[in-house]
Amino acid sequence: MAQIELHPAFVWDCDECGRQNFERAIIPPFQSKADEERAREMLDITSEEGFPVIAPFNVSCRRCGTQFETDVTQIYGDDNGA
Ligand SMILES: [Zn+2]
Repeated sequence: MAQIELHPAFVWDCDECGRQNFERAIIPPFQSKADEERAREMLDITSEEGFPVIAPFNVSCRRCGTQFETDVTQIYGDDNGA
């Protein structure tokens, strides 16, 4: 069986039409290990939990095209203000 590469992603449901949508998580290209460590600290992600990824700020529904700003408090928490 052939292998396929998996990518981290966010899933969201459209408030207009109900379609389930997926958005690829943004994996920042860190210039150095120190930059990556700083991102982990800001996002409160330990190495055991995986890559520090960034959620998109805006998304649009693949079915109806409605655009939304994203609410990331469930991912990053209220106090990190991402
Ligand atoms: Zn929609």
